[in-house]
Amino acid sequence: MPHDTATGRVRLVGAGPGAADLLTVRALRAIEGAQALLYDALISTEVLALAPAACLKIQTGKRAGRTSMKQQTINKLMLRLARSGLEVVRLKGGDPSIFGRVGEEREFLQTHGVAVEVVPGVTAACAAAAQFGFPLTHRGEARRLLISTATVAGGEFLDASRAGAADPETTLALYMGRDQVQAIADRLIRQGRPAATPAIAVENAGHPDARGIPSTLGELAAVLDAARPTGPVILLIGDVTARAECATVVGAASTPRRASA
Ligand code: SAH
Repeated sequence: MPHDTATGRVRLVGAGPGAADLLTVRALRAIEGAQALLYDALISTEVLALAPAACLKIQTGKRAGRTSMKQQTINKLMLRLARSGLEVVRLKGGDPSIFGRVGEEREFLQTHGVAVEVVPGVTAACAAAAQFGFPLTHRGEARRLLISTATVAGGEFLDASRAGAADPETTLALYMGRDQVQAIADRLIRQGRPAATPAIAVENAGHPDARGIPSTLGELAAVLDAARPTGPVILLIGDVTARAECATVVGAASTPRRASA
């Protein structure tokens, strides 16, 4: 591909899990200064509202199987907007470097001579842990955090033993895993992770209406099924999740209880 003369800039910005006060100051400044904003499906209206009224706002993704813009189309659009001299912000849920295709977008833009800046954000796993009062690592209990997706090309989930997922001191944070919970749990159990391992599914982490659904690895699929979540869900598996404080009543101000109680 030809390496054009450098022109324009695109900022790939992490919008965090949704609440505007979980944005970094740098992300906030980028959004406030944006002239063109391309945003993913999980970006909250609260965050979008921070962009200037005159800013061109383009949604690039739709949730749950509905048509999204093709990656190539997004890339070309960013390129065109940057070359036309606009301050382009590509807003992504959570942290752009975690299942955010930031590698592909950065490479494409740089190949075409556009400067790229990445602004990190609070990823769903961190938002969930903070909100429900448990750590992701804990001395003597969890020495490793494994961030993984369940939806890998070919449909196969990671090899638990190779990736360390079977290690009782590994906390697993599974993104995009909702539809494969049973298959993931079966596989982990088969590869040595006890069925009684505490687990929690967190829906809408970081939002005031977040829901923590505590369970165990063996029962996670059934419990999640019964809870019928409609928002994005992150699955956290590991002993640390037994410390989660899950509100019995939905809402930030409700009385917490120990998930393990
Ligand atoms: N870059 C994002 C992840 C994008 S992949 C991040 O760092 O958080 C999309 C998946 O992330 C969803 O399927 C879900 O598993 C998880 N996710 C994103 N936002 C979430 C939220 N607010 N609550 C729970 N899970 C979330």
